[in-house]
Amino acid sequence: MVDNFDVVIIGAGPGGYVATIRAAQLGLRAACVDAWLDARGKPALGGTCLNVGCIPSKALLDSSHHYHNVRHLLPAHGIEAGDVKLDLRKMLARKDKVVRTLTRGVAGLLRKNKVESIAGLASLKGGGRVEVAPHGSGDVRALTARHIVLATGSVPIRIPVAEVDGDRIVDNEGALAFSEVPKRLGIIGAGVIGLEFGSVWGRLGSEVTILEALDDFLPAADRRVADEALKVLRRQGLDIRLGARVTGARLQGDAVLVGYEDAGGARECEFERLVVAVGRRANTEGLDPAAAGVELDDHGRIVVDEHCHTTADGIWAIGDAVAGPMLAHKASEEGVAVAERIAGRAAHIDHDIIPWVIYTHPEIAWVGKTEAELDAAGIAHREGSFPFLASGRAQGSGETDGVVKVIADAATDRILGVHVFAANASELIAEAVVAMAFDASTEDIARTIHAHPTLAEAMHEAALAVDGRAVHI
Ligand code: FAD
Ligand code: NAD
Repeated sequence: MVDNFDVVIIGAGPGGYVATIRAAQLGLRAACVDAWLDARGKPALGGTCLNVGCIPSKALLDSSHHYHNVRHLLPAHGIEAGDVKLDLRKMLARKDKVVRTLTRGVAGLLRKNKVESIAGLASLKGGGRVEVAPHGSGDVRALTARHIVLATGSVPIRIPVAEVDGDRIVDNEGALAFSEVPKRLGIIGAGVIGLEFGSVWGRLGSEVTILEALDDFLPAADRRVADEALKVLRRQGLDIRLGARVTGARLQGDAVLVGYEDAGGARECEFERLVVAVGRRANTEGLDPAAAGVELDDHGRIVVDEHCHTTADGIWAIGDAVAGPMLAHKASEEGVAVAERIAGRAAHIDHDIIPWVIYTHPEIAWVGKTEAELDAAGIAHREGSFPFLASGRAQGSGETDGVVKVIADAATDRILGVHVFAANASELIAEAVVAMAFDASTEDIARTIHAHPTLAEAMHEAALAVDGRAVHI
């Protein structure tokens, strides 16, 4: 049996399922193939993000934040909750329910858009042909399409010095499902996953040690924000060790012994569990890109042009499988743009204005350039910042850690970068993204009325500060 489609999308993560829905909205006959199986061996849509990434990690971050606040923040508000107990099983079950609701929601969206959803592993055969091997027994299904979109996502990078066994030594999947709070938790990598999972388990009671090979903390972030964040996260109890190069990890009884080297020489730590979070790599396993003339780069990413078109006619690629930040919203926007191009429309993504958020507490968020990047490019800039210590709303809520920093072109005042460390930086950054998408100046934000009292007023004050006229500092 051969089925003909206008477009076959391979992968139903935030890149693939969004591309599929947009293609269907534009009247294209679309099919979406996905290989994901959940813990019970059932197909589940939504890819890494919904199943083991963005959604379950944020569910646990929120649950653990509530637990931490009841014990540590509420007493300052005059609220004594008494003997607070943790029911970890219930917390994990809630997280699983959130995931199920959303993955089923994606299946519902595909049905509503009359898309054919096919479970199985897809491989390219050239000439617009795709074969899908079903899970378990059953016939291979042959599909043909005028266009194929590769949205096969990413998988964790493995390092030989710390091999994941899925029990004591885990990756992001295992770190979502510890059956008990580890007494001592080691994490390799102080990147996004290391900091988010370190926060979750630290709030629930683990002693968390994070071993980071680099000397700099969050090198992609603004220095002031990174320095403040490091100070606050260490104060919260995360033992973040920079310049710590892991040399080996071995199991001994119930313990994981991790050896590392830093400026002081060789050291060893003992943990109950170890999370390896040293980055992710593009996933093309089983896809056979070469069979269709799709080239990969030296990092194994699918090579695409600025429109996400691969080196093979009629084959496109998006999301974590191609270069650029590995973020769900980047994958989705590329999916929309590709679907629109396939439908013959103009489409454009501004890769310079992709927001980043790290969901520690306070959250770390940024969009655009850092001062260091502008210095390196020789672009003259001015900046203004405003600390939450001076914000009435932050004082009222007891969330006074953090800062907003706005960077503007020295000649034109156009906003070039905004960096936020704040309780709700993930929401605050949206104002900066919209402003930058409209080429706004700091004067535009300075002349925009912000509600009082809100944390968003800090954005207003930081914009005023660029011109030396912040009012409340
Ligand atoms: P994926 O979501 O990886 O989906 C790819 C899909 O393709 C998978 O379902 C896979 O099974 C399927 N597939 C692969 N090969 C085949 C094949 N040959 N045939 C059929 N199907 C195939 N990003 C954010 O923006 N915000 C966050 O808060 C965030 N938190 C994260 C937390 C964690 C712990 C992790 C690991 C990641 C997080 N990310 C976050 C990153 C985000 O998950 C990814 O950027 C996003 O999922 C990429 O989407 P994608 O569609 O490109 O790929
Ligand atoms: P990462 O690139 O953010 O961080 C990995 C860290 O590990 C780096 O700081 C690196 O220097 C360090 N490292 C690498 N090898 C090491 C070694 N041998 N010893 C010690 N340290 C080592 O990667 P990640 O945290 O695994 O996350 C992967 C990607 O997933 C992120 O880059 C991001 O794109 C995505 N993600 C996003 C979010 C979010 O948007 N909030 C959350 C989680 C994951």
